[in-house]
Parts: sequence; structure tokens; C-alpha cells
Amino acid sequence: MGQLDQTHSLCQSLRLSWIAQRLPQLLREADENEWTHLQWLEQVLNLEVTERDQQRIRRHMVQAHFPMEKRLDDFDYRHQTTIQKKQISSLLDFNFLDQRQNLIFIGPPGVGKTHLAIGIGHRAIEAGYRVQFKTAMALVEELELAEKRGELKRRISLLAKNDLLIIDELGYLPMSRQSRYNLFQLINSLYEYRSIILTTNKDFTDWGEFFHNDNVAVPIVDRIIHHSHIFMLGGESYRLKQKIKS
Ligand code: ADP
Ligand code: MG
Repeated sequence: MGQLDQTHSLCQSLRLSWIAQRLPQLLREADENEWTHLQWLEQVLNLEVTERDQQRIRRHMVQAHFPMEKRLDDFDYRHQTTIQKKQISSLLDFNFLDQRQNLIFIGPPGVGKTHLAIGIGHRAIEAGYRVQFKTAMALVEELELAEKRGELKRRISLLAKNDLLIIDELGYLPMSRQSRYNLFQLINSLYEYRSIILTTNKDFTDWGEFFHNDNVAVPIVDRIIHHSHIFMLGGESYRLKQKIKS
């Protein structure tokens, strides 16, 4: 085996797959740029680290199951004036995740709750956190199915593998008693252990009623809002405004 082939297979044994893949090109670049040994080593290791990072981000983006791509950079704070850019920016050090705090976006349809939740989730993935997006309806169905199969605990511990669970649109549809209980089990397991971003059209004053004032209503609301940042969004629907403009 030639020296290049041998080095290639050493890289593969060490799972330095990006370096292995581009070895001839990297050697050519070293010659062209007259890099020192140290400069070259740095370039090569940098390539491996950067590419691995990008690959991880791509993988975690797929696993997050965002329903659509929304970026914080595309959020227009001139339209949505009930929240300020600095309020969102201050979350992006992700202290709230490290401290297992929750974010709650409350407001009527079309004011940007889901956009902000996805945008923050995207940035959290880039920062190295694991995120999963679920509509409240899909989550409730998923828990119900698991419960029927006697796998509720297992399903909940799978969900709890994420640093951040985004629950979108809680409160739009009524839930059965069993569903409320399942949801309570989930919220309870995540409490002070993982973070939740919740979007809802329901003000806290309506939550008791939404949970039918049964015995899980108070503990659910209590655990969600304890250690949480609450954002009340108002204003007119962005969708409606776009419609009127066109
Ligand atoms: P909500 O979840 O509050 O019902 P969405 O986040 O789904 O609202 O927003 C509805 C649509 O309008 C989405 O396509 C979203 O990207 C867009 N949108 C809402 N608010 C803004 C905003 N301030 N800047 C840019 N796009 C916005
Ligand atoms: Mg929404």
C-alpha cells in the first residue's frame, strides 16, 4: 500500500472521515499555500470539526420535525410590536434551556407564535441542543396511542431525551380526560428536567376551564408556568395583513 493509501486508511480507523475523503486535495492546498506543518494540521482538524458540526445540525434539524422553515432573522418586529427584538435575542444565550425554564407564547392566531417557536428551536439546534416540535394535537394522539399499548412511560422518556420540546397550539381543540392525564404525566416528567416552548391561544384565566377544572388542571398549569418566561402577543394577524396588501 502506498503512503497516501495508508494515511487514508489511518484516517478512516480514527473515523476522521472528512479528512480521509479530501486528503489529496488537502495536500495540494498545503503545497499551493506553502502552509507550515502546524498550519496544515490546524486546517485539516478544523475541516473535520466544522463538517461534523454541520452534519450534526442537519441531522438534528431533521429529527426536530419542524413543520416548516422559519428563521428569527425573517421576523418583522415592525409588524409585531407587542414583543421586542431584544426580548427574543436575550433568550439566545440559551440560559433558559440550561436552567430548564419554559417559554410560553400566548396570543390570537397569526401573530407569530409558531414562527418564533421554530426560530428559537432552530437556533437552539445550532447551539448544540436537541429539539423536537409537536403540535399539541399530534402529541396528545401519540400519548394516547402509547397509553393504549401500555407504553406511556417509554414514550415520555423518549420525548424527554430532547433538551427542548415545542408544543404548538395547545388549547385549540378539546381533550378527553385520559388525554389530559397523559399530558399531565408528560409535563410532570419534564418539570425542572427539560424545557418546553408552548404556544397557545388561551390566556391563563381560561386554562382551568380548558382542562375541565379536573384534578390535573391546576398541577399542569402550575408546573408549566413555574420557571417560565411568558410572552403575550397581540396585534392583528400577519396572514390577514398580507392578504389585504395583495
Ligand atoms: P401563530 O402561530 O401566532 O398563529 P404564525 O407564527 O404561524 O402565527 O404566523 C403566521 C404566518 O405569518 C407565518 O407564515 C409567519 O411566518 C408569518 N408571520 C407572523 N408574524 C410575523 C412577523 N412579525 N414577521 C414575519 N412573518 C410573520
Ligand atoms: Mg401557530
